Formats: sequence, C-alpha cells, structure tokens
Amino acid sequence: MTRQTHYDLIIIGAGIVGAATLQQYQMKYPNKKVLLIEKERKHSIHQTGRNSGVIHAGVYYPPNSLKAEYCREGLHDTIAWCQQYKLPFEQCGKLIVATNDIEMARLDILFNNCQANELHPQRISKSKLKVLEPNIEGQEAILVNATGITDYAAITDSLLNVARQSPLVDVIYQREVVEITEYPDKVSVAIISNDVTNIKHNSPEQLRCEQLVCCAGVYSDELIQKQGLVADFKIIPFKGIYYKLADKFNGISERLIYPVPDPEMPFLGVHLTKMIGGYTTVGPNAVLALGREAYGELPSISEIGRTVSYSGLYKLLWKYRRSVFQEVMTTFSQKKYAALVQKYCPAVKASDFSFYRPGIRAQAMLKDGTFVHDFKFVQTERVLHVGNAPSPAATSAMPIARAILKMLIA
Ligand SMILES: Cc1cc2nc3c(=O)[nH]c(=O)nc-3n(C[C@H](O)[C@H](O)[C@H](O)COP(=O)(O)OP(=O)(O)OC[C@H]3O[C@@H](n4cnc5c(N)ncnc54)[C@H](O)[C@@H]3O)c2cc1C
Repeated sequence: MTRQTHYDLIIIGAGIVGAATLQQYQMKYPNKKVLLIEKERKHSIHQTGRNSGVIHAGVYYPPNSLKAEYCREGLHDTIAWCQQYKLPFEQCGKLIVATNDIEMARLDILFNNCQANELHPQRISKSKLKVLEPNIEGQEAILVNATGITDYAAITDSLLNVARQSPLVDVIYQREVVEITEYPDKVSVAIISNDVTNIKHNSPEQLRCEQLVCCAGVYSDELIQKQGLVADFKIIPFKGIYYKLADKFNGISERLIYPVPDPEMPFLGVHLTKMIGGYTTVGPNAVLALGREAYGELPSISEIGRTVSYSGLYKLLWKYRRSVFQEVMTTFSQKKYAALVQKYCPAVKASDFSFYRPGIRAQAMLKDGTFVHDFKFVQTERVLHVGNAPSPAATSAMPIARAILKMLIA
C-alpha cells in the first residue's frame, strides 16, 4: 500500500507524550489526516517504557509551574483513562521519609509545597510511621495519599489503539526523521528506514504536513537543530539504574517510600517502589549516560562527543561534585546502592538485588550548567517541539497534549 504524503499533522515520537497528542488531536479533529512517526520497532521503547510507573501527585514542583499544574491534572486524567480502558493502576499513596536533621528541615519545605499544591499532605510521626509501615524507619514522614502506580507502556498502547480506530490516523514504526524544513505554507519532513531487513527504503522519503509536533524525548534538542533552529539548552542524558528485589520483599511496604530529595537535585533519590505486577524495585540512581540510548553497550564516539562537548555539563559536574561522586559510586557498588535504601528500609541488602531494566532521563540543561526544571516548548509558525519533558511527564502526558493542541493553528 502506498502511503499518503500530505497530512494535516505529523507527530514525531511514540512515547506517551506523542501518543496522547495523537489521540487528543484525532478526537478534536476527526476529519483531519494525521501521521505518527517512530524510529523504533514499537512504542514505549525509551523513557515511557523504562520509568518507575509512578502516577505523581505534584509534591516537588513550585505551585506556579507547568509541572505542578499538569501533574495535578494528569493524575486525574491518568486514573480516569485507566478506569475507562480497564488498565491497571493503584492509588497506593506515597511516604517521604526523613532520616536525619537536614532532611527534617527539607521535609518542612516539602510539606508547605504539598499544601500549596493542594495535595492534603499529612505529617506522620516516627511512631505512626512504624504502625503504617512496619518495615520502614525514619524520624518523621509526609504522607500523600493521591500518588499511585500504573503501567505507562500499557496506557500508551491504548492511546494509540483508540486513535488508530480512525482510518485517517496512521502510525509508522522504524522510520527516523532526519530533516525538517518549514515553509510559509507547509512543513516538509524527510524520513529514512531503520528497518535493517528492508533495504528498499534507505533513501529519504519526503512527507508534507500543515503542522508538525515533535515529541522526541532524549532527542528533542537534535530535532530543533534539524529544523535549523538554535536551542538555548541541550538534553543531557542521565541514566537511572534500578534493581528488582527478591520475591520475599513483595509487599514490604503498602505505599511508595521516598527519601527527602536535595531541592537542587529533585530527581535524585533512590525509592522503594511497588510495581504493577506485584514485585518491588529500588531506584533509580542518576549518572551521566555517555549516549542517549546507551542502556548497556558503549555508544559511538560521535554520540559520546555530543554528550560531553557541552560546557554547561562541566559546570554542573563541578557544582554538584559530591552528589555526582555518590551517584557514580552506587553504579559500581551494589553495597553502596543498598546503603541508600537501608537508611529507611534496613531489611534490604545488596544480595536481594537482581537486574532490572535501566532508564535514561531526557533532562534539558542551560549553558550555565543549570537544569531547566519546568516543561519547555519551542515553537515556530508551523512546528512545535516538546523541548523538555522529564518526570512527571508520563503522569502529565494528557495535559501536555491539551496544551500542545491549544498552541497549534486551529
Ligand atoms: C528512569 C526514569 C524514571 C521515571 N519515572 C517516572 C515516573 O515514575 N512517573 C512519571 O510521570 N514520569 C517518570 N519519568 C519520566 C517519563 O518517563 C518521561 O517524562 C516520559 O515518558 C516522556 O515521554 P516522551 O513521549 O516525551 O518521551 P519518550 O518516551 O522517550 O519517547 C520519545 C520517542 O521519540 C522517538 N524519537 C526520537 N527521535 C526520533 C526521530 N528522529 N524520528 C522518529 N522517532 C524519534 C524515540 O524513539 C522515542 O520512542 C521517568 C523517566 C525515567 C527515564
């Protein structure tokens, strides 16, 4: 079957943000033609299929941020979607546990932030903590009941299936977007085949659309460059290693157990996560990944060069050298990793760990070495790039998609 070459909208990336955008666009404009292009052989191969599966409530985000707003809305949207399409979820709640005096001071700030975000947090004393979670130890904790767990790859699958019921929706895999050209009246997108078994398609194919939305995760800055724009940030890939705990730990806690994060590095903090499926994981830590999709093997020299050639990176590594050192140590030593968990769950030992798939976070960084903490979009007349969509973007995918639709030309 020959493919059409002109669409009303093309979306790049079959992670949860691209899938939610496709589904909502199809629902809003049922008579428009839309194509989603993904370079892998299926959806959710990257961040969407390699995360903690937590439906965040919005504990950490400043009240006036996009993250706070979209996370709060996204929690409800995610649960509603799971209920409607009978997908697994559980609103099990989350405890953030302080284990020393520095963390106690930070816990106060977090509690105020939870209140400002209308999460109805509860202070949990040391003795109450023992009653709620007999295997967890700490000086005090915050309980947020709204937090939950789900399977984001399953949600992505159902978003795509719902959208694909329309004959005007097309999803193609193993096609990589290599060039974007914007004209006054259209956008041209060049794709190549990533299917090694199909060498017929190795010269670029040109597609056209009225508008383009790029939801490329860890490659968001590269697609901005492919359009000839200059991004004021770069995506720095941070790998998160997880471990699955031995079966005897299934049910070790009823809730998700988090340490108190450093406010400057809010994504650091190895947590104890009950997963859909009944098992428990610990993780993720955060270390610089040499390649954006380098989960195990070493990336190419050019990929390493792209990662390490950003001046902002060195400023960050120097500023946070203590945290960086600690995270690197946990990568090489399972004992050091286990020690992070033992602070609040003494029963866990390194010998209880087994391999679990790692994830790589797409985190935007400015030239001065500071992180872009909030979600960020880059827009021209006909092209919209989701520039920075780290956690909680899986939780927030549906509100992000609504925001994208508002930014498009009607
Ligand atoms: C370790 C880890 C833990 C996390 N935990 C949570 C959590 O518990 N809760 C939460 O809400 N969020 C969490 N997140 C964040 C969340 O997973 C991501 O924010 C979210 O999945 C981003 O979705 P996405 O669609 O933007 O990106 P992705 O899922 O990365 O999808 C982007 C897609 O674009 C494709 N692509 C890229 N370039 C091209 C191209 N040129 N041509 C065609 N296709 C292309 C990629 O192949 C990929 O499939 C976590 C992330 C990580 C890594």
